[in-house]
Amino acid sequence: MSGLTFADWQKRAETLQIEGRAYINGAYTAADSGETFACISPIDGRTLAQVSSCDSSDADRAIASARATFNSGTWSQMAPAERKQVLCRFADLLEEHAEELALLETLDMGKPISDALAVDIPGSAEAIRWSAEATDKLYDEIAPTPREQLGLITREPVGVVAAVVPWNFPLMMACWKLGPALASGNSVVLKPSEKSPLTAIRIAALATEAGLPNGVLNVLPGFGHKVGKALGLHMDVDTLVFTGSTRTAKQLLVYAGESNMKRVWLEAGGKSPNIVFADAKDLEEAAAAVATGIAFNQGEVCTAGSRLLVEKSIKERFLPMVVAAIKAWKPGNPLDPQTNVGALADNQQLNTVLSYIEAGKAEGAKVLVGGNRVMQESGGLYVEPTIFDGVTNSMKIAREEIFGPVLSVIEFDGVEDAIRIANDTLYGLGAGLWTSNLSKAHQTARALRSGSVWVNQYDAGDMTAPFGGFKQSGNGRDKSLHAFDKYTELKATWIKL
Ligand code: NAD
Repeated sequence: MSGLTFADWQKRAETLQIEGRAYINGAYTAADSGETFACISPIDGRTLAQVSSCDSSDADRAIASARATFNSGTWSQMAPAERKQVLCRFADLLEEHAEELALLETLDMGKPISDALAVDIPGSAEAIRWSAEATDKLYDEIAPTPREQLGLITREPVGVVAAVVPWNFPLMMACWKLGPALASGNSVVLKPSEKSPLTAIRIAALATEAGLPNGVLNVLPGFGHKVGKALGLHMDVDTLVFTGSTRTAKQLLVYAGESNMKRVWLEAGGKSPNIVFADAKDLEEAAAAVATGIAFNQGEVCTAGSRLLVEKSIKERFLPMVVAAIKAWKPGNPLDPQTNVGALADNQQLNTVLSYIEAGKAEGAKVLVGGNRVMQESGGLYVEPTIFDGVTNSMKIAREEIFGPVLSVIEFDGVEDAIRIANDTLYGLGAGLWTSNLSKAHQTARALRSGSVWVNQYDAGDMTAPFGGFKQSGNGRDKSLHAFDKYTELKATWIKL
């Protein structure tokens, strides 16, 4: 941890130099149109920077640069061990600039500075380094052909990758894509969310400083319907990787179908169940994890445990523990290292969360704790962590992703009932379960239709295991060696001997 105080961070925020321009072919550049948009901090409403508002003209420029560099082979044909060294230097630079990047992230999207420093920046560097370290350890295959044939099965970079990413973990979601995409030898055009473009813009220069050739990493800030759509429809993007909402994910599939059938890999939304069985070993521990699962990062987490499924026989005993645990999560100025709940990302997100709280009340669910916007005098966008009791799985607050600190408590009776309710959702990203019965843990884990299952914990993970969703939570996986599948084409070469 940095040892910097609230006052130190505030002082640094005053003097921080912020770059808002796009990055194309190794240099910062204004949008062709000259248009910009104001990047506003949700902490207090201050304008942080004017950011380039890119459109299809800038996308053409960035893609042309990415394609030319890819074809030149300076990166795509570099020896894997050399690519590894450049990317490890890039990871080192992210770490050396950890405080600056954490501050940008916090100012831009409102998360607590302590989380940005402990989770986002190290997680971003690790994603780059882990993928880099893998590149010179991945071998190709030889097919079990008849003796007169030699069948080579090789992986090649796909070419130009467009990466469209969200605002909740802006840099880390970008780096989950950049790590394996760059390590595989591709050129990338990265489009950060209009709500949080600043760290993506900043790291482009660090990548160049690390030795990435010009054109290998381009960053295009701007609105999704302009620059994101242009990337989705572009005839010269080979692969589109995405993290964001299911609504946008479906649109990207349409763009691919309407253009060049580019490969589309999607990490989308979730409505994850956290199931607490009556035989959980330690209910206090489970309650603390339930609170963290919905309050961490203001609930703006794709795997937020937004549906608490609690067994009927322990509900009366367990809920007060959850209420007590969530009271430890209090909104505050995110630049204060003591703060554990920051601001919501922007006005739109604030209004969405507040409208779901109203919808929950209107449908007859009961607010046990929270439910209000707070700290309005700060000019920032803060909402108390909120728990609804008496929710049924058919209510809007149980079916739709809120993407805020709002927990729905749903009662169940027995294992079958828990599994039925847990799987009764469009999504399939994460699921937690708490029990001291080993067979029940395995059987329930198998029955849950989700990409990650956590037993007697919630939201564990690192670069070693794949991350992604079943059903409308997406396709393909980020992290682990499986992530490389998105960024490589398989080639079979038949040699007659
Ligand atoms: P979003 O879909 O609104 O935006 C994501 C990105 O898509 C942004 O860069 C945005 O500008 C762009 N975009 C928006 N409309 C577009 C269009 N028509 N064409 C092309 N691009 C477009 O999502 P968000 O609000 O930024 O992020 C929140 C969502 O992300 C939640 O649903 C959350 O669950 C999901 N998420 C998923 C994961 C995961 O790994 N599965 C991780 C983090 C967040």
